[in-house]
Amino acid sequence: MDSQFYALFEEFLHSITQHREIDLESISSVIAPICKYLGISKTATSFYDNPRAEALGDGRTIVCYDSGVKSVEAHVDRVVTEAYSVTKTIIYRSADSDEWDEITKRNVELFTNVMILAVSRSTLLQVAKQRTFYDDSSYLNINYFIKYIERNGPQGLLKGNAVVFFNLRHFTLINQQIGRDRGNVVMRGFVDKLIDIVGNDGFISRMGGDNFIGVISKDKLEKSLEHIRGCAVPYNSYGDRIMVYATAGVLVMDDSFVYSSPSSVLDRVMPAAQAARLGGMDDIVFFSAEMERRKDKTMRLQRLFPQALENEEFLIYYQPKVDIHTGRLVGAEALCRWLREGEIIKPEEFIPTYEQSLDICKLDLYMLDHVCSDIKKWLADGKEVVRISVNLSRKHMIDVDLVDHIISIIDKHGVPHEYIEIELTETTTDVEFKDLKRVVSGLQKAGISTAVDDFGIGYSSLNLISEIPWNVIKLDKSLIPLKTDSDTSPRRVMFSHVVKMAKEMGLECISEGVESEDQISTMLENGCDIVQGFFYDRPLPKAAFIERMIAKEYK
Ligand code: C2E
Ligand code: MG
Ligand code: MG
Repeated sequence: MDSQFYALFEEFLHSITQHREIDLESISSVIAPICKYLGISKTATSFYDNPRAEALGDGRTIVCYDSGVKSVEAHVDRVVTEAYSVTKTIIYRSADSDEWDEITKRNVELFTNVMILAVSRSTLLQVAKQRTFYDDSSYLNINYFIKYIERNGPQGLLKGNAVVFFNLRHFTLINQQIGRDRGNVVMRGFVDKLIDIVGNDGFISRMGGDNFIGVISKDKLEKSLEHIRGCAVPYNSYGDRIMVYATAGVLVMDDSFVYSSPSSVLDRVMPAAQAARLGGMDDIVFFSAEMERRKDKTMRLQRLFPQALENEEFLIYYQPKVDIHTGRLVGAEALCRWLREGEIIKPEEFIPTYEQSLDICKLDLYMLDHVCSDIKKWLADGKEVVRISVNLSRKHMIDVDLVDHIISIIDKHGVPHEYIEIELTETTTDVEFKDLKRVVSGLQKAGISTAVDDFGIGYSSLNLISEIPWNVIKLDKSLIPLKTDSDTSPRRVMFSHVVKMAKEMGLECISEGVESEDQISTMLENGCDIVQGFFYDRPLPKAAFIERMIAKEYK
């Protein structure tokens, strides 16, 4: 028995099993005594991500021990781990030594087996860690973020930091402009610079696509957010740069912050990020108690909706449309009010919430149904009824049978189609535009009038009125010239030409939000004959509106 070998082997085993992960750079001190004893002059270990990389020689080699003498290859061992990474060890003996005898060969094999097992286990751990906490492009991933929050949250270590979620703006466009590969370079450049700013007491991880989330210490926050707002990033070797902007939600975890779970952190930062992304506000939105209240309110409104609809708590108010030359009532718009526990709630309080889901569609069709039922009754009572317009949200566009649904509601009440007008707003995408065109054309065929609502705000384009067969164009109140606007002011010029254009195209033109005598004069000067506004009436409860219908004229 080779007791000296076993004594050394035991020592080797002891030192190599002490650590879960082996530090290969400094392993030579551990294995030197046994190598010397066995006559091993050099060992080299190589790692490959997979057997294909091994075949291509695309790997990383570490010389674990080298006595410096001229060597020849004496033994090779190779292990493929369960993650398909390959670890390969080559053992050398000195070139001028004799071939090893059987006992030495066996001992070398034993030594190599143990070493390669330990080393491959250690690589496997590294690969597992890499795959668990990094994505394919070597960004830290969301698992890392969650683990970090879980580890540090309960101990109060998140205090003094902020969680920042950001989304790169228009990144699809950047990819289209400069190509995907360069797009990746740009993303890398943008994020790496941010990682530099964030430093060692924080990190940035990728949630997927162009969404990132990270923890940033408070003293680095301002500089980080400045970077996130926008910075120029080089995308080729000539130093050409492209501006990259991002929107972000920020949760500052100060002393009052109470940790409960990773999702409680995400639940606060995501709505802030969402608000930043949807715009309107700043590109960077800080989570606030106010946001939490708004979120609670939204949830409450959503919860109350089905019952409120069932109880018919939504009322129809009618706002007259008046011909300014004759003072005659020529139509009305049906506007929703919510009578909740004796209090009248205005649509701006609940419509935006219902527009986030398909609840708005139910509400709109409820409105149409009730308007038709009112018209039916008025007609039966022998009243001279005017055309009533009903608002339909853009959310309806996904319903391919929308036109049929509208017709079936009107026909259910036996109301002649000419009494109904549908108000729709402009669209923002090509797909929506096509849908809008289809719906308006369908309604037109059925003899139902259509109006483009709020024209002049948002993204109104000329296509919207040239390609879609509207009957009515409703000019938003922001388009009406102010008393102080000069004759050549853009607003006055625009207003007069939009009215002229609409009329020449055979569209009926209505101005919304007319409140004063001055504005009526402006309407007369520009030939806008019909108005809807507080000057004549606010939206009226049904009974008051019936009185106006009977009176027919404003004196
Ligand atoms: P809209 O369809 O553009 O309706 C016109 C809004 O302008 C109404 O606000 C009306 O009260 C207001 N208005 C009319 N004349 C004047 C004026 O002279 N001065 C001022 N300052 N405002 C005037 P309201 O009733 O609060 O409705 C707001 C918005 O809520 C509506 O804008 C519409 O987009 C939405 N909405 C209301 N009811 C419904 C509904 O049943 N379905 C859908 N989808 N949206 C609705
Ligand atoms: Mg409207
Ligand atoms: Mg409007």
